[in-house]
Amino acid sequence: MRRKLVVGNWKMHGSLAANAALLQALASKPEQGAEMAVCVPFPYLQQAQAVLRNSAVAWGAQDVSEHAQGAYTGEVSAAMLGDFDCLYVVVGHSERRSLYGERDEQSAAKVAAALAGGLVPILCVGETLAEREAGSTEAVVSRQLDVVLRHCGVEALSKAVLAYEPVWAIGTGRTATPGQAQQVHAFLRHRVASADADVARGLRILYGGSVKAANAGELFAQPDIDGGLVGGASLVADEFLAIAGAA
Ligand code: PEP
Repeated sequence: MRRKLVVGNWKMHGSLAANAALLQALASKPEQGAEMAVCVPFPYLQQAQAVLRNSAVAWGAQDVSEHAQGAYTGEVSAAMLGDFDCLYVVVGHSERRSLYGERDEQSAAKVAAALAGGLVPILCVGETLAEREAGSTEAVVSRQLDVVLRHCGVEALSKAVLAYEPVWAIGTGRTATPGQAQQVHAFLRHRVASADADVARGLRILYGGSVKAANAGELFAQPDIDGGLVGGASLVADEFLAIAGAA
């Protein structure tokens, strides 16, 4: 039985003052059915660690270097994230891919680096609107997944989380229907199962793309949707807690 997981991706939002109230509201929530985590900007990791330390909410980062250390100005290694007790790290988010030119191979190397550093990577895959309209959704997510399977091996996914995030639904207010999302989630699980059925059965596949309290219940009720990766709505404590409640 896969435990549902709801992860907030704060993106480049927040301030020490604003975060304090949000983190406090999350920290004071008693443990519920779904596991919860927030992936915060790097400078706020220490704040998240301090406030969430004894709570039911885990924390993590939004990116990690594929390198362990060295002359990589501006980069942050998995070991550095470990120094702040991060559990999760988002890898291959579509904003990293589209705005910063992150390639499939680089995302795969980041998954490997995260695992080597003891973190749980949340690997994001998803198609653009043009790709969906061209009927290439499955080809795109397969390509993004397969490079990780080749680079890290299928067993790596037993220590990772997968997130299906259709690019056209991220931050747009346009959500995939539960049926559209379920179809891709089932496809992804089937693809992993063709390499290892046990890993596929245990793999948590999150949906991301304009998840809100109002649509979370229907999405999370789908058999292959194991929770959500939540951007905008994770910045509002009540909304994020309601989403987790729906899981
Ligand atoms: C995201 O940032 O991963 C995301 C899904 O954003 P939003 O929920 O705002 O669409």
